[in-house]
Parts: sequence; C-alpha cells; structure tokens
Amino acid sequence: MGHCAHARFVWNLAVEQQACWRLGRRTAPGYVEQARQLTEARREFAWLAAGSVTVQQQALRDFAQAMAGFFAGTHWRPTWRKAGRHEGFRQVGLKPGHVRKVSRRWAQVWVPKAGWVRFRLTRPVPDGVRSYRVTRDASGRWHIAFAHIPGPVPAPGNGRAAGVDRGVVVSAALSTGELLHIPGLTAAEARRFRLLERKLARARKGSRRRAAVKRALNRLRARLTDRRKDWIEKTTTALAAGFDVIGLEDLKIKSMTASARGTRAEPGRGVAAKAGLNRAILASGWGQLATRLEHKAPGRVVKVDPAYTSQRCSACGIRDARARESQAVFACRSCSHTGHADVNAARNIQQMARACAAGHAVPAREGPRTSRPTHREPHPGRLPSGAGQSGIPVR
Ligand SMILES: [Zn+2]
Repeated sequence: MGHCAHARFVWNLAVEQQACWRLGRRTAPGYVEQARQLTEARREFAWLAAGSVTVQQQALRDFAQAMAGFFAGTHWRPTWRKAGRHEGFRQVGLKPGHVRKVSRRWAQVWVPKAGWVRFRLTRPVPDGVRSYRVTRDASGRWHIAFAHIPGPVPAPGNGRAAGVDRGVVVSAALSTGELLHIPGLTAAEARRFRLLERKLARARKGSRRRAAVKRALNRLRARLTDRRKDWIEKTTTALAAGFDVIGLEDLKIKSMTASARGTRAEPGRGVAAKAGLNRAILASGWGQLATRLEHKAPGRVVKVDPAYTSQRCSACGIRDARARESQAVFACRSCSHTGHADVNAARNIQQMARACAAGHAVPAREGPRTSRPTHREPHPGRLPSGAGQSGIPVR
C-alpha cells in the first residue's frame, strides 16, 4: 500500500536527520521544521505528492512523539523502518461519515487517495472516533484500530479532595491512607525476562534464533504494558469518580534523578538498585496517570509545588527535614504525629490542592464527613480547614 511506503519514507528521513544531527552543533529539526521540509519534498517528488499529506504529516508527529519518549527515558531511540517488516500508517482528522457499517460483520472506512476500504468488525467501532492506525502483522494480515479516549467522568459533587503522592517504592499513596502499587512482571515472568535477555546477548546478529528471542521479549513487554495501562485506567477512573478535586505533585518541578523521594536516610542497597531499575518505567506510568486523570477530571486536577510535601507534617504544618525516620515512616518531632511517610506527603498534597481549588472556585468543601451529594457553589466564607493558613506555598 502506498500510504505505508510514504509513512515509512518520511519516518526514515526523520530518523536519518536525528542520526546526522547527533554529533552536530544544534538540535535536530523539530516537527515544525520537518513539516516545512515535507512540503518541499512533496513539491520535488511526484510519487510522494501523489500520497496523502495527512498520512505523511502523521508519520512526522509519530516520530516526534517517539523522540519525546526517548528523551524522557521511557522508550528506545526510534529506529529505521523496513519494507515488509514495518507496514502501517496512521490517519487523523476522521470525519463522522468516514466510517460506515455495511452489515453486521463488515464496515467501510474512507482512506484518503485510496477510497473506501472494507474491513471485518471484531468489535464495535466506538462513537466519535477521530483517528485510526492501519498495520500489517507478521503473518501478513491487515488490521485497523480506531483510537478512542473515554470521555470525562462526572464529578461526584461530594466536596472531597484527594492527594496523590507518586513514588518509587509505593506507586501512589493516597491521602485516604491507601497505598497503591502499579503491577509489574510476576517473579516467574521477571526470571524469564532476564533469561531471554541473556539469550539475546549471546544470539548472533541477524539469526533466526535472535528474532525469536526478540519476539518473546516483546510479548512480555507488551503484557506488562497492558497490565500497567489497565491499572492506570482503573486508578484514574476511581479517583475521578470518587473525588471532586485531585491533587498531584507537579513532577516537572520535581527532579526524578534525585535519590528516591529525597530522603536523606540511607536506603538499603537493594532498595536503591530496585529504585533505579524501576524509575524509568515508573516515570512513564506517572506521566500517564496525570494525563489520563486530566482527561477524566478536566479542571479538577490540581498540580501543586512538590517542594516540601515530604518534609511537612500534615497534622501540625511544621516543616521538619529530619522527621523522616526512614523511607517509610514520618515522625513529627513537634506534635508527635507518626505515620506512613508517603501518606503524610499525600495529605500535604491534598491540603494544598484544596487551598488552590478554593482559590479557583472549584467545588471543594470540608473533607470526608460531608459526603451528602450537593451541587451548590461552595460558600465563600467557608474555607476548608488548614487552607490558606498553613504557610505552605500555594500556586
Ligand atoms: Zn506535627
């Protein structure tokens, strides 16, 4: 299919540019510059111009996304796409009439410059799809996948605010005291993963054995990705449906390269190694958690300054850098409050988010006790306890 060749050509050009620029002076051209170059290339090459411009632009956008993933440390550097191996393209800006059902099992999709293409339905096409990806699998079958992001979850209207502390040892600690762990590989899967990695290192380049080992590794990675995605979907839906306001640390400010959670207490060697191993994977999970939460609870997610969330006592508001007894325990030396360090941080985030939300007139009232659903505007004179008087920086 021409679209695949075009998308691959554009992608490979972008890979080549990145490779050339790596040793060079400035950064490689970004998407905007590449889009301009694409316009020029289309003027020059008739076969490229004969293709769909949206397919080609999308390949550039996909590449920009892949590079962003690489720089964030969550993905490998994007590599060459080969004919026969990487066949596929993505189409965006789908109009409502561009997908139609022809029978119970068959439907058609409008592909620019190709016309109507028939495909078999394996599941219903969701309403309001805007984009799709066409791919060919290893056995030569073509697949079409429609992208669909579930819409926002209505606010419960209960005035509750949640603070979420994302961390390495505990994936997400909630101000309610819940400690959530993002699923990983099982012990058996992890063993198999390491075994396969060793096999891969020994396998000759280009050998059939190497390809088989790679496939097995990719299957394990895909399984892990699916499991994590599923966890993120469930967790964000529960938060969006259970709380009017959800506070998160603004991780753009927080340096993830600092020692895990900024505790000065000596973490055990195993902990440090594990944290290092998990950090890159978790970083992507944290990003996705925030992104999906913002989709599901638009205008209800408050990002707070993470400066002192781990040092401040959530009970008395005193900042105490030495209150961290260990990785897991926060013991305030002023009010003798003791608790899980991550939950303490989550409660600080909750209090800051409440204060922010009250300032921005997002419905946020006094905590969990007023669980009666109500949709009135918050009373202007009634600020949640602790808000505005805590001495914590509010942004
Ligand atoms: Zn205290």
